[in-house]
Amino acid sequence: MKMPVVFVGHGNPMNAIERNDFYRGWEALGRRLPKPDAVLCISAHWETHGTYVSATESPQTIHDFYGFPKALFDVSYPAPGNPRLARRVAELVTTEQVRLDPGRGLDHGAWSVLIAMYPAARTPIVQLSIDTGLPGSHHYALARQLAPLRDERVLILGSGNLVHNLRLFSYEDSKPQAWALQFDEELRQRIAARDHEALTDYASLGELARRAVPTPEHYLPLLYALALQEPGETAEFFNARVVSAVSMTSVLIGGPASG
Ligand code: ZN
Repeated sequence: MKMPVVFVGHGNPMNAIERNDFYRGWEALGRRLPKPDAVLCISAHWETHGTYVSATESPQTIHDFYGFPKALFDVSYPAPGNPRLARRVAELVTTEQVRLDPGRGLDHGAWSVLIAMYPAARTPIVQLSIDTGLPGSHHYALARQLAPLRDERVLILGSGNLVHNLRLFSYEDSKPQAWALQFDEELRQRIAARDHEALTDYASLGELARRAVPTPEHYLPLLYALALQEPGETAEFFNARVVSAVSMTSVLIGGPASG
């Protein structure tokens, strides 16, 4: 059986401890998916020059943000790592050199979502970094090579945000901004139509793309999920909401029928 693939919008780190709709969406996802032996997470919050994979036995919880309540800094997500899977990832990818990082912990792009999906923290987590110097097409090609992992009970989870402009974001007014809604809708239509070419070359989507994706790191994890969509596999949206200038829209590819 092939494991489904997920792109999840993580948004505000507080989603990890507020029992809000997004958190509940992640909980429901964790219950619905077949239980993976391990998770390979591609998070917006691990940007590198070159590509790295975390090969840590016991990754630390990284609190890579500031200005949030102590309760968020107190969160620990003690899921184990899986160095064997890290080595497997490095072997599978041949278009880029993937180096092992023996000290890397879990950033909040990973743990804020996984804490809801797998609260027991027993499922091993490995992270693959994002070389933001590479164009979308290279990320798409890199991700294609991870396809065998889907047959090895590994859940591949991209974590970012389809629309992510913190300069235009308002903490006071969570109402979706019109341009953000419009671009989120355009992306959903293109994902549904499997227009991977335009989604990979997202700069070609014009002025709205420049506003929604001012920097690539939160968008690129989407390409890791799309690249693994096999012919005939469904793409289903969940948590599909825009908060101010951030889209939480998430995509489940090849998921089990909802019951
Ligand atoms: Zn983020």
